[in-house]
Amino acid sequence: MDNQEAVELLQKVIKIPSVAAKEAEVADVLDALAQPYVDAGELTVERLNYAPGRDNLIIKYGPDDAKTKLGIDGHMDVVDPGDPAKWTYDPFAATIKDGKIYGRGASDMKSGLIAAFVAFLNVVKKHELHDTQLVFFATVGEEVDNYGARQLAAGHYVDGLSGILVCEPSSTQIEPSCRGIIDYTVTVQGKAAHSSTPEQGANAITGLFAYSAAVAPKAAKLCAPDHPMLGHATHSITLINGGNQVNIIPEAAKLRANIRTTPLADNVAFTKAINAAKDEAAAAHPELHFELSVDSTIDSVASSADNHLVQTIQAVRNAQGLPSLPVKGGTGINDAAVMLQPGMDLAEYGPGNDSSHQTDEYVDIADFTQAIGLYEKIFSQYGLTY
Ligand SMILES: [Zn+2]
Repeated sequence: MDNQEAVELLQKVIKIPSVAAKEAEVADVLDALAQPYVDAGELTVERLNYAPGRDNLIIKYGPDDAKTKLGIDGHMDVVDPGDPAKWTYDPFAATIKDGKIYGRGASDMKSGLIAAFVAFLNVVKKHELHDTQLVFFATVGEEVDNYGARQLAAGHYVDGLSGILVCEPSSTQIEPSCRGIIDYTVTVQGKAAHSSTPEQGANAITGLFAYSAAVAPKAAKLCAPDHPMLGHATHSITLINGGNQVNIIPEAAKLRANIRTTPLADNVAFTKAINAAKDEAAAAHPELHFELSVDSTIDSVASSADNHLVQTIQAVRNAQGLPSLPVKGGTGINDAAVMLQPGMDLAEYGPGNDSSHQTDEYVDIADFTQAIGLYEKIFSQYGLTY
């Protein structure tokens, strides 16, 4: 597929409004393009259904007993475009202007998904692999909670991979790691009373303040150490509510918080710390009932900064006359957070920019087409580094 056809394919896929839905329509487009190679016995294509209209797509090339196996990951969903009236061009029109394609998902991450897919087919066409199997994953629901990647991991689709390339927008650095996450809720139950006689009640908001005071030093201690790639962990109380009238002692209150973890301050350590803080607050306030629930937890993942995949990317860039890129940890979560297993190489590297999730999201066409050429080389040369 030449660059012009690739740009048209990207436009076609941006026009599918896959806002946490309709990923199967994107999968249909890719599936149809892979079919001639399936008929020729070169590829296998599998659909893994998540929900109506939502299919993950898995395309395999190369022998199952290959020495190296490279997973290539891209998500097909996009975030909501917000008010379309605020956009210069319709978010699902994939308008081209001054060398850029505008639209929701142009940067995050339909350009990475399509660049990788086109490169994958080009490698198949040229038969240029070195004892390697390529497994292309197009996933659903990444932007919500990595639904597709979780399903693939649970279904053992990633077992035995040597590395995973996540084609998320990251053209100025290569990311071999990402921080983990914990979302949790603390609920305090007290007793209502008229505020003129507070001693007859039990103030649930007081309980939240006690929890907040107890957790602060524990979180600060865990957030202190700097991981060489991921920086330090963070703990933020992000939601709070309680009480319903100014002259009533509140009988219930709750807060929610978000933690970003690192291997130096991991999910186990934080879970211990927040439970200890809850117990401390509860001991100081026997008149109140405290509950803590962990709503979501994903461990941080860190592959080494000079893993085989990172080395391959740098070597391919250098061979094209491009400078090596800094290797840094990502602050966000991507599919790899739930797919990576110990010993696997990880790199997040792909076309796109910081217009992701914003109004007037775009990708530079040159950035997209350059990525196709680089991906082709990365896919075919990864096996050589083993
Ligand atoms: Zn993304």
